[in-house]
Formats: sequence, structure tokens, C-alpha cells
Amino acid sequence: MIRLAIVSPCYNEEEILELSAGKLLELLDTMSADGKVSSDSFVLFVNDGSEDATWSVIEKLHGRDARICGISLAHNVGHQNAIMAGMMTARGMVDGVVTVDADLQDDIKCIPQMVDLYAQGNEVVYGVKVSREADPVLKRYSAQAFYKLQESMGVQTIYNHADFRFMGKRALDGLAQFDERNIYLRGIIPLIGYRSATVDDVISNREAGKSKYTLRKMLNLAFDGITSFSIRPIQIITITGTVMLILAFTMLIYVIVSRILGHYVPGWSSLMLSVWFIGSVLTISIGIVGTYIGKMYMEIKHRPRYIIEHSMLPK
Ligand code: UDP
Ligand code: MG
Repeated sequence: MIRLAIVSPCYNEEEILELSAGKLLELLDTMSADGKVSSDSFVLFVNDGSEDATWSVIEKLHGRDARICGISLAHNVGHQNAIMAGMMTARGMVDGVVTVDADLQDDIKCIPQMVDLYAQGNEVVYGVKVSREADPVLKRYSAQAFYKLQESMGVQTIYNHADFRFMGKRALDGLAQFDERNIYLRGIIPLIGYRSATVDDVISNREAGKSKYTLRKMLNLAFDGITSFSIRPIQIITITGTVMLILAFTMLIYVIVSRILGHYVPGWSSLMLSVWFIGSVLTISIGIVGTYIGKMYMEIKHRPRYIIEHSMLPK
């Protein structure tokens, strides 16, 4: 039997917390009655610098049932950092953590299944959205287009998985070794390794309150999701420069042929050639400088080079 923490980030969620806390406690009751988790498992709400009464609601809920716990961050740090804060706080106290958004749009009935899969040796269990019917059309398609774009940039992620997942103790210890600041958990967690599994997650509608993910927050997340893992955009610059150089040479041939055939305007050939040639040289140069910056960027993250899964060493 494992001790479980359910970590849930909350930003201005006063309207929904009571409802969500009730559902989570009920789930913990059933799971401990079924012998899946210990009775001292708990819910950890992370108040991400809310401007409303979120924290006092959490305090009140804690007064009623001590299994509702919380930490309150000094200011708003965003969804990803809030989840990280919760997981790192729970690490060391528990055997595993489930992260789920406070609005419980994810299917929490998957959690017992996640715990079973952990017992079968999976260190990470991803909730994968099998149906996004409840998501607005625009959000659904933009998210899917984004996952495809990420894939084409060489970022390894789990398709249609957001941040509903189970992580065992060892995976949490692995995660703690990633020192970077612009965190995009969906990209980092697959880098930790270990055996993983997925469960089918059916998304439902938000029961109270509004979405806290503004367009700006969403675009920032998407941008981090690519630029924190891939330097392919820089490679694209170098490739563009090379293509321009090829065009410059084509232009050279065209200019020479025009001269031989005698139909040209004075000054035109040198101008055309210079424009293409200088343009390509500049673009290639930016690409080369960018390559070095890209390498520094990857170095500066101080990511762990490896994480040992098993070892058998002399005593
Ligand atoms: N959230 C957060 N900090 C923020 C924005 C959102 O902790 O700056 C939390 C929010 O309270 C919720 C989760 O992140 O628990 C997901 O947000 P939301 O449900 O509003 O996003 P959506 O489901 O619409 O993508
Ligand atoms: Mg939501």
C-alpha cells in the first residue's frame, strides 16, 4: 500500500475548490478502503498567488479534514511552476504523486488505475486525453496542431497528454535533478526515463469558475514547449541561408546568360548578385552564431546526463 499525494494547482479557484476537495476525499476514501493507498494519503493544494479567497477556502477545508493540505506561493508563478512546487514539497513524504488541475476536468476515476500500473512497475503513468469533446473547438484543434508542430521540431512528448499524471518516488527524484527554470513538464518528464504507461482520460466540462489559462499564458507555454527542447529553429535559419546562397549562384548564371544574349540594363547584374549574395552570407552567419548560442543554451540548463535505474556494485 502506498502513501499518495494528489497535487493540484489553484489560481483563483475559490468557486470550485470545495466541490473538488469533496470529490478527491471521496476518492481517497474508496482507494484506502480498497487497500490501494494508505489512509494517511492526502491532497495538496498549491495556491499559486491567487487574488481571491482561494487560500482561506483551503484553510477552511483543512480545518474540516486534515487530509486537505496546502502550500501558498508568495506570488503567481504559473501552472507549471505551481505543479513543480507541489511535487517537490510532497517528494520525501510520499511514495507517489498524482497531479491534476483543480477544476477536475480530467477523469479522476483513472487514479486507482494509475496506482495499479505503478504497482506493476511503471514509474510514470500519463493520462492521455481520448476525447476532448468538452474542450472548445478552437482549443482542441490548436492544441493538436501544436503537438504536431512540436513533433516536427524533434521534441519528445506524449501526444494529447497534458499534466494529469502519476509519478513514483524515483521519477520525482529524477525530476528534482532537472535544474532548469523555464519548465515545460510534458517535455522534461519523458527525458527522465523509467518504464511508463498511459491511461485513457475523458475530459469533462469545468463545473465552476472560468479558465485561468489566458491566451498569453497558453502561447508562453507553447513557446517554452518548443524552445526549451529544440534548437531546430536555429537550424532552419542556417538551411534558409544555404538555400539563398544556391539562389545567388543561380542568379549568377542567369546574369551571365543575359549579358551574353545582350539584353540587360547597366548596373542591374551587379545589384542583383550583391543583394542575393550578401543576404545569404548574413543569414548563414546568423545561423552559425545561433548554433553556438544554442549549444550554450543546452549546456546552461545543467540537465542530468543520466539517471541510474539499477546498480549492482561491490560492497
Ligand atoms: N493555474 C495556476 N496558475 C496559473 C494559471 C492556472 O495554478 O497561473 C491552474 C488553475 O487553477 C487550474 C490549472 O492551472 O487548476 C489549469 O487551468 P485551467 O483549468 O484554467 O486551464 P484549462 O483547463 O482551461 O486549460
Ligand atoms: Mg481546466
